[in-house]
Amino acid sequence: MVYRIFSNNWYSILVNGQQQGFFQSSRGVKQGDPLSPTLFRIAAEVLIRSLNVLHQNIQFKGFGMPNWSPKINHLAYADDMIIFTSADVVSLQKIMRILRNYEQTSGQKINMDKSVVYMHKKVSGDISITVEIVTGVKRKDFPFMTKPTLWIEYMTSKYCRKENTILVQWKQGSQTWKRMLEARDLIEYQIWWQVRKGDSLFWFDNWTGLGALYYVNPGNTYDARIHNVKEMVVQGRWNKKKLMEVLSKDIIDHITQNVTIPKEERDLDRPWWILDTSGEFTIKSTWDFVWLREPQLDIYRFMWIKGLPFKISFFLWRCWKCKIPTDDVLKKINFNLRSKCWCCINPSEDTMHHLFLASNTAKRTWSFFCKAAGISMEGVQLQQLIVNWWKAPVTNRLKQVYAAVPSIIMWELWKRRNGIKHGYRKINSPVIYLVLISIQILVLYKNPSIKTIPAKWKNLIQMLEGGKARVKKRNIASPQ
Ligand SMILES: [Zn+2]
Repeated sequence: MVYRIFSNNWYSILVNGQQQGFFQSSRGVKQGDPLSPTLFRIAAEVLIRSLNVLHQNIQFKGFGMPNWSPKINHLAYADDMIIFTSADVVSLQKIMRILRNYEQTSGQKINMDKSVVYMHKKVSGDISITVEIVTGVKRKDFPFMTKPTLWIEYMTSKYCRKENTILVQWKQGSQTWKRMLEARDLIEYQIWWQVRKGDSLFWFDNWTGLGALYYVNPGNTYDARIHNVKEMVVQGRWNKKKLMEVLSKDIIDHITQNVTIPKEERDLDRPWWILDTSGEFTIKSTWDFVWLREPQLDIYRFMWIKGLPFKISFFLWRCWKCKIPTDDVLKKINFNLRSKCWCCINPSEDTMHHLFLASNTAKRTWSFFCKAAGISMEGVQLQQLIVNWWKAPVTNRLKQVYAAVPSIIMWELWKRRNGIKHGYRKINSPVIYLVLISIQILVLYKNPSIKTIPAKWKNLIQMLEGGKARVKKRNIASPQ
């Protein structure tokens, strides 16, 4: 059955826009067919098992590892493979036999030009010549300083960054390492790379806060020629043209508004463990993340609102977790900085509390929307104010809108702050107006039957209340 799937394909080639006959495929599945990776796995499994079986062979001398550690003789990632072995000739011959067998049965060919033997610097020339003769592969230096392959790049950046004593780590770390690989899917998203020099991996590191772009980017345009974040900078600015070629506009906006532009003279990019406010990896925060996800779902249900751009919901989530780079948050992770806010004519400190609640603009914006909605903002902290919006006792149609109001207000305040900070927005830019527009768009999305939408917030509420009795008004703090 499998054979029929890929044997019965006919292809035609367009030459100058004209079809030029047909020919039949003799190998390979159709482009993009999910069967392809599956078949590849099945074939690769043969190779992996054959290599594992070597450990049971008494003649096989593997790569030196502590006795208690699990026996590893290879690591594989996609079509890339690292084989660990001793330089013992019989063992090498056994490995080569397995590889040849695999080539013959699978039809895949090992690319000898791309294959290399790595040995420690101090290994003598004699041994290395023997290894080269037996394997037919040339010895080279460790690749960490040269042009990276996907695998090497991935591994070095994840686990070996800034480390020069990699060999030592590999030996001692084999147990841990295996675990890390196992936990990778769950944990990787929790590491945020703070851009400094811009050496984070463009596609695979979470340097935007959105997760690895390889997975985030809609449409999955993936350009393997781009390696590091810094390649996207030209003359000290984001190279928007180049970004546009590979990313969606949403993501580019997010990057230009939130990510520091890499500068060559800065230090290496720095990983932060985003589950802990200190930025350091802690077992506790991981435990909390893995085991306490359930109770938090209630809050998150309010955060993710259909019809609202993902970036806005995501931003609220970050605020909730104190994961936005206002000065107070940065100070907690030991940045020694003097703080000045960007939102006021007479600057105060740049804290989350100030920016989103206490500053004049924030106060004015909240009270404009709270007043008409009858939502109390007297003496409340930011989180309480948000919850007040979520839990307001109103009609269902209005509930959907109220749930989104805090995220939209905070998003606009954040955009305004960054706009002023980076010099392309004025201090008197109209936040209330922009919030209202976003709300109107959301209302239209949620209620496609609505023909005309009221321009005023008060009237919009009345319309969504649908003539039902008004909710009792509560005390509202005055704006000043
Ligand atoms: Zn301010």
